[in-house]
Order: sequence, then C-alpha cells, then structure tokens
Amino acid sequence: MSIDATPHDIHWHRTAPPLSSQLTLNVETSADFVVVGGGLTGTRTALGLAESGARVILLEGKTIGWGASGRSGGQCNPMWRATPDQLAERIGDSCASRLVETTLASADALFDDITKYNIRCDHEQAGWVQAAHCRTAQRDLEQLASAWNAVGANIELLDRPATEAMSGSTEYGFALFHPRGGHVHPLSLTRGFAETAQGFGAQIFENSPVCGIRKDGDRWIVSTPQGAVSTGQIILTTNAYTKDIWPGLQQSFFPLVSISLATAPLSHNLQETILPNAVTLSDTRRAIYYCRFDRDRRLIFGCVGSTDNAATLGGIGRLKRGLATVFPQLADIDIEATWAGRIAVTPEMMPHLHEPDTGIIAGLGFSGRGIAMTSVMARTLVKKALGAHDNTLPFPVTQISRIPLHSVVRRAIPLAAPAMTLRDKLDTWVDAL
Ligand SMILES: Cc1cc2nc3c(=O)[nH]c(=O)nc-3n(C[C@H](O)[C@H](O)[C@H](O)COP(=O)(O)OP(=O)(O)OC[C@H]3O[C@@H](n4cnc5c(N)ncnc54)[C@H](O)[C@@H]3O)c2cc1C
Repeated sequence: MSIDATPHDIHWHRTAPPLSSQLTLNVETSADFVVVGGGLTGTRTALGLAESGARVILLEGKTIGWGASGRSGGQCNPMWRATPDQLAERIGDSCASRLVETTLASADALFDDITKYNIRCDHEQAGWVQAAHCRTAQRDLEQLASAWNAVGANIELLDRPATEAMSGSTEYGFALFHPRGGHVHPLSLTRGFAETAQGFGAQIFENSPVCGIRKDGDRWIVSTPQGAVSTGQIILTTNAYTKDIWPGLQQSFFPLVSISLATAPLSHNLQETILPNAVTLSDTRRAIYYCRFDRDRRLIFGCVGSTDNAATLGGIGRLKRGLATVFPQLADIDIEATWAGRIAVTPEMMPHLHEPDTGIIAGLGFSGRGIAMTSVMARTLVKKALGAHDNTLPFPVTQISRIPLHSVVRRAIPLAAPAMTLRDKLDTWVDAL
C-alpha cells in the first residue's frame, strides 16, 4: 500500500487519460496574460482568456494537476458554509447577491462546461448528501438549508430513514440532499481544461516554476529558472502550494491537509449497499469524512490529514476507521492507494480575490470547496482581467491580509487532524448522554 503523495501514487494520476507532454519555458517571450499555477483555477482561467482571443501563457511549476486538483475528492459541493445573510454581512448586500446567484448556478455551470468543451472526466451530476454527525450539526444544517432555500436553492431535508436510503450509511440521523451536486475525475477535468485552453491558443509550460516577478515600466516580467515572460497582467492561482511568489500571499491562508484512500473495486453485492444512484457523501465532522465512487466502483474516501505524507500521526488508521464507521461492510476491503494534498483554508472559509498591484490579481483559498468554486473564481478572474468593473464581480476585490501569528499556527497544523477527530468524538458522546 502506498503512503506517499507523489503523483504516481495518487489514484487519479493512475486513471486519467494522459496529457501530451508540455514544454518547459526556456526563452524570453511575451503575452497579454500570464497565469501562474496549473490546477483547476489556472487552467480554467487560461481557457477563458484564450477563448476571448487573448495571448495567454500558463506557467506550472510541476505538471498540470500536480497540486490539489489532481488529488481532490472530486466532489462538486456547490454551496458555502455561510448563509446568504452572513455573506451580506461580510461583503455587502450587492456583492453578496451576485455571489448567491453565481453559487446557485455553479454546479450547472461546471457540468455545462464539461459538455460544451467535451471533456472526458467521468462526470455524474447525481447529487450530494451532506450528513450531520451530531445534533448541533443537524440544527446548523437545517438553518443553512432554510436560508438557501429562501433564495432559490432546492435543498431537501432527509430524516434518518431517508438519509440511510439515500446514502447507504446508518451512521447519520439527518442530512441535506443537494440535487445539483455531483462528482468528476478531478485530474481529467484539469487536463481537459488545459487541453481546451491550448485548443484556443494558450501556451502551457510545465516544470516552469515562477521564481521572480518584477516591474519593467508598465509591464511585468515573470521569471522562471530558464526563461521569462513580459506581460501586462499576471494571474496567480497557486492556492495552497503558494510559496513566496508575492509578499504576504502565503500568510493569507492556512495550508491544511486532506488525505484520501481508494479501495479495490467493490463487488456487485457491496455496491448495492453503498451510495445508491452514485450520489456523493460528505459530513459535518471537523475532520470531515467524504466519499464517492470512481468509474470502476472503487470507493474514494477521505478525511483531514497532517502532512504531505498521508501516514503522518496515524492518518492511514484514521482513514480506515472513518471508512469502517460510515460503511462497516468495508472494514476489511483492500486499499489500492492513499495520498495527501493541501487545501488553502482562509479565516472565513471563503476564497479571496486579491489585487495587490496594478496588473496582478490572485484567486485562492477555496477551503475545501474547490471543484465547483474554482470555476466560479476562474470565470471571475477572466472577467476582471478583461476589464470588468469590480462592482460586477461575485467576490470582493481585496488587498492581501496576513493572518496574525501565521507561522506559529502553521507549525501546529499537523496536530489539527488528531485534535479535530477528538472534538468530533466529543460531539457524538454528548449526543449519547
Ligand atoms: C485530498 C483533497 C481532497 C479534496 N476534495 C475536494 C472535494 O471533494 N470537493 C471540493 O470541492 N474540493 C476538494 N478539495 C479542494 C480542491 O481540490 C481545491 O480547492 C482545488 O483543486 C484547488 O485548485 P487550484 O487550481 O486553485 O489549486 P491547485 O490545484 O493546488 O493548483 C495550484 C498549482 O500551482 C502550482 N504552483 C505553485 N507555486 C507555483 C509557482 N511559483 N510557479 C508555477 N506554479 C506554481 C502548483 O504546482 C499547483 O499545481 C480537495 C483537496 C484535496 C487536497
């Protein structure tokens, strides 16, 4: 069983159609836009810009989909953790109303993109079951559903029997059903966006990490170890793998870790008892359990981890115990792969759209909701880069804000998963009193 997080060990890297190998930037050149980072955000942004007729260069430090986008659970969970009123309090009424409208359309927009660009990514829009792990979480979910249904969402409330029937799990007494949710092969989708962007004329360079950005008159020079691009605008989409590319950016979020396993393909009998109708499931635990089938009926199951190695601080045991808690019939199933990836979590669990200087924009911080929301952000980055006024966008455009005591808290991140797991257990013990 593999425990490392190199692409070869990641289930999605073993099962995605290959992307033709890309060049490394080794010349000095120019472009209208440079996109930095080749995950879902960067590839979808490059696609949108290239489709508009602009000259686009995308620079990826490793390979397309190397980051979270090639490690993701691939669940399209098209909803925020905040209610529309809470969003309005944070970002103002008019921005919140644009964000609410965009959010309600986000899943359909993603699946429409997949159809429009003919991307082969094993997609299914079969719905998302969001299950409560305790009574307090149930109350929170009820409020969330009521608030979003009041603005046009179509969320169903499931009692215990309905939750069991919908998910195949007896672990939960209550859940929400989001019919527009679904799942994708996340690496195939990322590669599909990249190929489509290339079809529109975007140039993609892999193994081309950006190591410097400097001003040159009214242009920017983006440097890699062997080349450089002169451009009018740079779009940073490096998310949780951001290092020191721009002052303060890596201190604006916490790089938490999510870990996953892929089981062996399930027998026909087992398949019939689990996630009927190909729904996805995630729960309200702090150390969130989430799962879905892949196209060969392997169950992909994940939770919170500690470091880039899924095994750190008992991660593999936590995954297996989680799997057996949600689906006891899988306690002894063979595990084909385990891996880890980083998610960028912001203080308010919402992505940020920054403009730290003229000609530099950044979109990051999806806080575990990136499959639908990276596309929402990418479309927003495209609009902004092409000149749309900030008051037409669904995210507020902000300066970068460093989180106080970031380096201290960051050092404690490996302990977050065991601590969260303990808090989750306390919740269920309190329920049992
Ligand atoms: C294990 C796991 C499970 C998840 N499950 C789900 C889920 O089920 N549903 C959901 O909605 N979300 C999920 N997420 C979150 C989701 O996958 C992410 O939000 C999303 O993929 C982020 O995409 P991105 O393009 O912004 O970042 P990434 O995919 O991380 O891409 C950033 C890229 O930037 C590159 N880069 C960094 N620095 C540089 C540089 N200097 N120069 C050039 N390139 C650079 C990196 O190599 C990387 O490829 C999960 C995440 C993980 C890790």
